[in-house]
Amino acid sequence: MFRDKETFKNAFLEKMQAVCGKCLDEATAFDKYMALGGMIRDYTSRKWVKTNARYLEEDAKQVYYFSLEFLLGRLLGSNLLNLGLTPVCREALDDLGIDLNELEDAEADAGLGNGGLGRLAACFLDSMASLGIPGHGCGIRYRYGFFEQRIVDGYQVELPDNWLRDGNVWELRKPDKAVEVRFYGAVREESSSERTVFVHENYQAVLAVPYDTPVIGYGNNTVNTLRLWSAEAVQTDFDFSSFSHGDYLQAVEYKYSVEAISQILYPDDNHYKGRELRLKQQYFFVSAGIQSIVRTFRKKNGSLKQLPEKVAIHVNDTHPVLAIPELMRILIDEEGIGWDEAWEITTGTISYTNHTILAEAMEKWPKDLFRNLLPRIYMIIHEINERFCRELWDRYPGDWDMISSMAIIADNHIKMAHLAVAGSCSINGVARIHTDILKRQEMKNFYIVYPHKFNNKTNGVTHRRWLMKANPELAGLITEAIGPGWIREPAELTGLLKYSADPSFREQAAGVKKRNKAVLAGMIRDKYSFDVDLDSIFDVQVKRLHAYKRQILNVLHIMDLYNRLLENPNLDMAPRTFIFGAKAAPSYYQAKTTIKLINTLAHIINNDRRVGDRIKVVFLENYRVSLAEMIFPAADVSEQISTAGKEASGTGNMKFMLNGAITIGTMDGANIEIYEKVGPENIFTFGLTAEEVMDYYRSGGYSSRDLYENDSRLRLTLDSLVNGFFPVPADEFRNIYNSLMVHNDEFFVLGDFAAYTAAQLNLDRAFRDKAKWLEMSINNIAYAGTFSSDRTILEYAKDIWGARQLSVE
Ligand SMILES: *Cc1c(COP(=O)(O)O)cnc(C)c1O
Repeated sequence: MFRDKETFKNAFLEKMQAVCGKCLDEATAFDKYMALGGMIRDYTSRKWVKTNARYLEEDAKQVYYFSLEFLLGRLLGSNLLNLGLTPVCREALDDLGIDLNELEDAEADAGLGNGGLGRLAACFLDSMASLGIPGHGCGIRYRYGFFEQRIVDGYQVELPDNWLRDGNVWELRKPDKAVEVRFYGAVREESSSERTVFVHENYQAVLAVPYDTPVIGYGNNTVNTLRLWSAEAVQTDFDFSSFSHGDYLQAVEYKYSVEAISQILYPDDNHYKGRELRLKQQYFFVSAGIQSIVRTFRKKNGSLKQLPEKVAIHVNDTHPVLAIPELMRILIDEEGIGWDEAWEITTGTISYTNHTILAEAMEKWPKDLFRNLLPRIYMIIHEINERFCRELWDRYPGDWDMISSMAIIADNHIKMAHLAVAGSCSINGVARIHTDILKRQEMKNFYIVYPHKFNNKTNGVTHRRWLMKANPELAGLITEAIGPGWIREPAELTGLLKYSADPSFREQAAGVKKRNKAVLAGMIRDKYSFDVDLDSIFDVQVKRLHAYKRQILNVLHIMDLYNRLLENPNLDMAPRTFIFGAKAAPSYYQAKTTIKLINTLAHIINNDRRVGDRIKVVFLENYRVSLAEMIFPAADVSEQISTAGKEASGTGNMKFMLNGAITIGTMDGANIEIYEKVGPENIFTFGLTAEEVMDYYRSGGYSSRDLYENDSRLRLTLDSLVNGFFPVPADEFRNIYNSLMVHNDEFFVLGDFAAYTAAQLNLDRAFRDKAKWLEMSINNIAYAGTFSSDRTILEYAKDIWGARQLSVE
């Protein structure tokens, strides 16, 4: 259809007129983006219809990936890439004097997620479509995405992310597919001689309206669906006309309370807060999603008994776990199926991924709050718990400790992870160490009872967005060397291994890296008005701000390096640019203080003539997917320095590796598997192991005070947090100091400090051996294929979902 650039050009000009009613000269970049996006969407719709028809005709098993977050970023660039239209589009626009990059930059990020968990869901959608797996997303269409971060005087300030303000070309509203979701009210039992019927009364009804976004596979004609639900009031007109009944205010209140459900994304990562609105969000999209799945299934199939054969529902963390009781409710209350059979269908259909073992992130809902909001769902969970505990009692009679540790309802709370394991056919962790910890510690008893349910699926990232799109020059260089096979089979990247010693390839790889660094440096100059040295090490830590991720450890190393430079101006070291990007949850005080600390330190170092250009510190505002796409290709060093045992997997680590950055990291999450792939000579690992951390928690014996007393370098750095070294109010950084010194450093920052600075010293030496460094870098790219989400998705499809690849056309 758009084979040649002339047809593309004409189609674009026509769309411009139709969409904006403007000629080209008057149009803004955004106008042009909307026209191009609309044109691509139209082009896609034919494939979309065909894909759905093919799924129906084949009666193929459908996968539904339920997630409270989908951190998609921008879609224009990746859609063009997957459709194979980037070159023709670029050329056609060039002819018209339009820069495609400028149009891409006009698109707002779809920031419907916090970080790794939401981005994983987005990578999975891309891989499912690209592999031809019938797999769809289900989530919430938040009116406001993850907040926009501004840095003002070194502090984080949060602004609303009004990403829908100017419209969203990719989505399609489907009002005819709306369903009703019910909250509050009471349940009445009606018993007849046949059976008991449960009637939910006096509920508040909310209309769930779906917005569908096409998910385009890479070069394969498959277009899957991301269905996001929006909450609307039922029968608005009726309510607003009822002035005479004096309930106008009530009607307005109802409308606002309903719309609040899909209004905002909660900005907390790895942290649970028991807010009723959050629970409403969870049930809202889960109920809408399950109703819509059952309705679609019914069109083709008679009996719901076959649901597990035809449908797999995957829940991303515990947020969508109400899928279990909701499916039970529909099967029992609406389909008239008995409990045992409903349970078999439900547990056969649903699978669950655990994302964290941090205690503060474990979801547990107060019983009373829950029962008030979702009375029928509460009854079902209560019954699930009764039966579950009875079954445990039969298998482990008298073992109260075991049973109470596993109960779904305990201490007046509903434990969502327990419900997830009891009510699903599979539970997986997201990296080997994480799954092992689940089996051996966090979910030990569940593993004893259901060993067959546990499995590992190490995370991955889509190499299409994170290499081909983000770093086209590197992708081109790779293809030139080993051919294009790696695009469909990322494991074939190992073909690069024989080039890592090739001087000419190394030089070319070095050239690409340098140009990517120049692009990032250009952005830094435009936005922050200072220069960074392109020959310096671009040492990058970008991820959510969290104590367990230990940005503070990075800061202490920078402070120590700064001190050493002042002590010895001739210190032999490679110049470094330390780059940070991180959003803190708005209510996470210490995380916000850490941002202020980084910015204050940056200000001091960047303006200290004595260190010259040898170190610079940059905090990049508003870290998000589109910014990440500029950062990874420019990175030399990937900071993955979480306390061992705390980071379930990490995916940032994989994006860095794919772009040739070398990891400095702890033996945590997927870092361990990266280490095993690349070997000790291609990574810098350091620090306590997860076992050692666990031993400290169990047996004590850790004293940050002792570490402080015995290390003069550490003392110097830590003291400067509170001794007036920083030009800030006296107690500005006291809470950070106290967490390390008074509260005995929960995340072992001081414990790993010496090992970390030693590893940094090794890294510095390696960087200065240019040939060696390039070899390491190329080896990292070569081994990154395993960490493509294609590998991950094929494992899910085979081991958990029983879903098959299906070609379209
Ligand atoms: C990949 C990614 C993350 C996750 O990073 P981690 O280092 O794994 O925590 C978070 N935010 C964005 C925007 C990402 O692209």
